[in-house]
Amino acid sequence: MKYLKEFRDSDVARAFIRKIRDISKKDVKLMEVCGTHTVSIFRHGIRDVLPPNIKLISGPGCPVCVTPNRQIDEALELCKIPGLIMTTFGDMMKVPGSYSSLAKEKARGTDIRIVYSTMDAVKLAQENPTREVVFFGIGFETTSPTIAAAVLAAERLGLRNFSVVGAQKLIPEAIRALLDSNEIGINGFICPGHVSSILGVEPYRFICEEYHVPAVIVGFEPLDMLQGIYMLVKQIEAGEAKVEIQYTRGVPEHGNPRARELLFKVFEISDAEWRGIGHIPGTGLKFRREYAKYDAVAKFNIKVENAREHPGCICGEVLRGVKVPYECKLFGKACVPENPVGACMVSTEGTCAAYYKYGTRE
Ligand code: SF4
Repeated sequence: MKYLKEFRDSDVARAFIRKIRDISKKDVKLMEVCGTHTVSIFRHGIRDVLPPNIKLISGPGCPVCVTPNRQIDEALELCKIPGLIMTTFGDMMKVPGSYSSLAKEKARGTDIRIVYSTMDAVKLAQENPTREVVFFGIGFETTSPTIAAAVLAAERLGLRNFSVVGAQKLIPEAIRALLDSNEIGINGFICPGHVSSILGVEPYRFICEEYHVPAVIVGFEPLDMLQGIYMLVKQIEAGEAKVEIQYTRGVPEHGNPRARELLFKVFEISDAEWRGIGHIPGTGLKFRREYAKYDAVAKFNIKVENAREHPGCICGEVLRGVKVPYECKLFGKACVPENPVGACMVSTEGTCAAYYKYGTRE
């Protein structure tokens, strides 16, 4: 507990809350773009201790939530191939696509398996040489190097029965899309700790230099959150805009070059479709030509043309921070974590799931 307790010290927390209250004069909206931050904010009651002029808004920080139905439908189409084993991380299982979910298809007898690491999927392909094994690859910059590593391992092992549904996303240009749309007037970004441990500071510079909005890379403990908010408010009140690292114990200024090298050996940057935001240039990853044979959607010629969202679900607006889950008519009634209608209620990192579990003042 040693390393946890020192980031949860209530006296230090009270001191940060006082400092925030002392300097905070303006009405500000701060957005977190990381599902782990969303959960930390709710779990530790951070919203409740801030002065009412500071509003925290959850953005598109949950990789499961931002995966559009079309890509879920592609994975479901692949599941129809006889003998194929679909693998995925657990939180993807219950996310509804247009007509079904992986959990429902598994209950109907399809061979869908939860893996805890991308290498588990490679191992399955090794153990089942006569069957195709597909990994449903979702995630941001933190997870994507591990997907690249799995592809390189499959290549080294000469596996021809392993492939990936590449649904990974990149965060920085999604922040640009939010700033360009200017739907809610964000005054500062709480940047993700895990993603930044790979990226470092550089990819966020445009937020300050082009949009004059401050950004602070923040850790996940309550004192991290409070200190990060203090750093943002201090910049805003002083009229400054720069990228700072609060989470210095986890994020080197230059990130993790080795992980980026691995990632870009296999993938190159492309455009991507985000649930609720739509097409965003420079936020996706596609296989480089030499690794294109690992692209499951191309390999099996999967085409999905009739993807649709649930008509009552407002996940898109929730992910853009335009609406809060309470504004959804289905919240807590037809849509609950045990029976989610939309992606934001499925993942533990989803905004709707966090509102449902912890509640909050608005
Ligand atoms: Fe979608 Fe459910 Fe959230 Fe409503 S409560 S926006 S249906 S996930």
